[in-house]
Amino acid sequence: MVEEVLPGIFRIEVPLRHNPLESVNAYLIKGRKRNLVVDTGLDRDECAKVLQVAFRKLAVNPENTDFFITHLHVDHLELVFKVASPNSRVFFNSADFSIFDDDSWEDELSFASAHGFPPKELQKMFNGFSRTVFNAKDKVKFTFLRDGEVIDMGNRLFQCLETPGHTPGSMCLYEAGERILFSGDHILEKITPGIVLFREKEMNPLQSYLESLDKIAGLRVDLVLPGHRKVFGNLHRRIEELINHHRKRGEEILTVLNEEDADAFQLASRISWDLPLAWHEFPTLQKWFATGETLAHLKYLENRKLVVRYETAGKTKFICANT
Ligand SMILES: [Zn+2]
Repeated sequence: MVEEVLPGIFRIEVPLRHNPLESVNAYLIKGRKRNLVVDTGLDRDECAKVLQVAFRKLAVNPENTDFFITHLHVDHLELVFKVASPNSRVFFNSADFSIFDDDSWEDELSFASAHGFPPKELQKMFNGFSRTVFNAKDKVKFTFLRDGEVIDMGNRLFQCLETPGHTPGSMCLYEAGERILFSGDHILEKITPGIVLFREKEMNPLQSYLESLDKIAGLRVDLVLPGHRKVFGNLHRRIEELINHHRKRGEEILTVLNEEDADAFQLASRISWDLPLAWHEFPTLQKWFATGETLAHLKYLENRKLVVRYETAGKTKFICANT
């Protein structure tokens, strides 16, 4: 599906089969000299086909088209390796790119198992992960952008904004004249963006995320063009909802920890998730995300001195600071 959101700006809905997100948005911005495409899709035939048909229909020549990738997640990034031409600039960020330096999943595995996740189950899932990005990342010449840098499209100026949280290098694009924001997965209307801690070296993603929400709350925005689902207005109400969601989840974690010490995996199994399944029915990927989200909260609560960790038999457990 292709929708003209504003004159010269098109939303291309790229399907994600067997994925609760249903689809990802690629946006085409027609410029005076070059086009810009924001995000792409997965490296799958069904995604490539939709994007290529849309490009043909909208008279997009990849030779004079550049790409802006909001963050490292494969549903936004992977397809760029297929659709970019040798003349395309691919704008990305170095914080996310550096995560591709290590393709072993060792850090994630030892981190999650120290927090109670069954390692064999996780290893099996990692074995099934796509290798496209690791194999192809050097085939495209990335241009790394920093906060405040501008992409000049002739009739529109897009300012790049660093909004870490959903990933360490997540970025938005802002056009102040028309008050529009390409929000990637930083802010979605109906879906709560996952804020996860998967590696020891990531600092405090939830703290970063809340600060990034604050940063966006300071902008004048009439229309949000998100990474998934439809475009929407009323950005400030959505920001409030997201802040409330995280406040409530933090409270729920403290309530559970008040009863009994727990590791992150145990905690994740005891708090409520927006999935119509019992915990033991969660697919491994969902359990891993839930544990990662719980860990992001624990880190945040620990920094605020509301919970304390301790080590026992090689595992990390958490306890309320006031007990
Ligand atoms: Zn994402």
